[in-house]
Amino acid sequence: MIIGVPKEIKNNENRVAVTPAGAAAFVKNGHQVYIQKSAGLGSGFADEDYTKVGAQLLDTIEGVYAIAEMICKVKEPIAQEYPLVKENQLIFTYFHFASSEALTKAMIASKAICLAYETVEKKDRSLPLLIPMSEVAGRMAIQEGAKYLGKPTGGRGVLLGGVAGVKPANVLIIGGGIVGTQAAKMAAGLGANVTIMDVDLQRLRHLEDIMPANVDTVISNEYNLEEAVKTADLIVGAVLIPGAKAPHLVTRSMLKLMKPGTVLVDVAVDQGGCIETCTPTTHENPIFMIDGIVHYCVANMPGAVPYTSTLALTNATLPYALQLANKGWIKAVKENEELRKGLNIVNGDVVYKGVADAFNLPL
Ligand code: NAD
Repeated sequence: MIIGVPKEIKNNENRVAVTPAGAAAFVKNGHQVYIQKSAGLGSGFADEDYTKVGAQLLDTIEGVYAIAEMICKVKEPIAQEYPLVKENQLIFTYFHFASSEALTKAMIASKAICLAYETVEKKDRSLPLLIPMSEVAGRMAIQEGAKYLGKPTGGRGVLLGGVAGVKPANVLIIGGGIVGTQAAKMAAGLGANVTIMDVDLQRLRHLEDIMPANVDTVISNEYNLEEAVKTADLIVGAVLIPGAKAPHLVTRSMLKLMKPGTVLVDVAVDQGGCIETCTPTTHENPIFMIDGIVHYCVANMPGAVPYTSTLALTNATLPYALQLANKGWIKAVKENEELRKGLNIVNGDVVYKGVADAFNLPL
């Protein structure tokens, strides 16, 4: 199969969908890889790293789309890419169709095959191509939170781990899934007093078993949350209700209960946020203050660490991409239910319920 890897052109997107290791694997399996010049630079891969393993460079994004049977990308195509997508071309990337009617209509019109990373689903209902980015965001939440706890950025001026003779900071993590678990590990490793809250008692039992002694688990309800925000220095929002907007668990009135300079990192901001006063921010301007409380609400946290994020993402995507290339998409989705769930639009037809429902389209 002919595989095309365009350079990402979405603002501030430095990840690349195929690493040199991935290109080598495709070539070894008998495929041809065409990559746009400098596509890997933002993630630390030079053009020669790709040519050394047998990939070929193309000067333009138009050239990549024109030649490829399968396009491997990171982010959804943006408007200037819409006309480049061809009938029967397989596009394997994050699409998040339900959040863009324009993208959905453009991909229907293109008659391409759109296989979305975010809906590839395992039997246990986990989303293997979303997990790596949650892992990155969870770990980053503590790194960023620790930074903004500093006085110069409006924080309380507290060191997460304290020092000998001085108590460590209190870190409250709301939601003990992928993001919450990674955040808890990082905060605990830095020596903070960590509390994880979740509504899922089974999940809390598991976390209680595997976490170090400086991590406590508490059932999540309004009463317990109100108590916990009073003593927290850093609060991480990591709640997810699949397919729904995040509930506003930390309300505006709770800000008054917090210590001045408390830092809120709402990782769930991409699903509407679980902290009422959070609205999406960017890496250029990541924080704002309300009532003396620091709000960090960057919606694409992994974008700040493309070296790590590209490797984490491609570790998860490559085995699926290889199946698609080796078998062709029809046989690959027939034989692999996980991949089949990734199909969103096929030759002009919407085949994923969430996308059809979002825009009242026939399924
Ligand atoms: P997950 O499904 O693994 O975990 C979510 C957890 O929230 C579950 O354990 C669930 O039981 C818990 N929960 C549900 N309702 C709750 C409540 N009322 N109180 C406490 N806990 C509750 O999800 P995840 O992969 O950890 O993702 C968490 C959020 O982070 C999602 O919204 C995801 O989209 C987002 N995310 C954001 C970024 C970013 O850059 N901002 C990056 C990756 C993920």
